[in-house]
Amino acid sequence: MVLMTERKAGRVPRVVRGSVVVHRRRCGKANCRCADGVDLHESTVLSYSQDGRTKFVMLPAGEIAAVRAAVERYRKAKTKVEDQGNAGLGELIAWLSAPTKKQAR
Ligand SMILES: [Zn+2]
Repeated sequence: MVLMTERKAGRVPRVVRGSVVVHRRRCGKANCRCADGVDLHESTVLSYSQDGRTKFVMLPAGEIAAVRAAVERYRKAKTKVEDQGNAGLGELIAWLSAPTKKQAR
């Protein structure tokens, strides 16, 4: 997949959905240091779900901090809008279900 290998010129977007996780795994080579199952290869990836499936994209070492920050921005913005949406929902329900009085604008 081109996206995973090609280094894009430019920068990490300000807001990114997903989460940064470290994958640890064996590469499968019998003589590799990872063959004992202890000293595994680590790679930092962005984990995200798309079309109901969890996907990963490898992160270049130099971009990990920026992606972490972008993911955190997304998480905070999402929490904020969810809070606003819930407050709005509560207000709307209270308003529409108020039996007698029509509230003044
Ligand atoms: Zn290995």
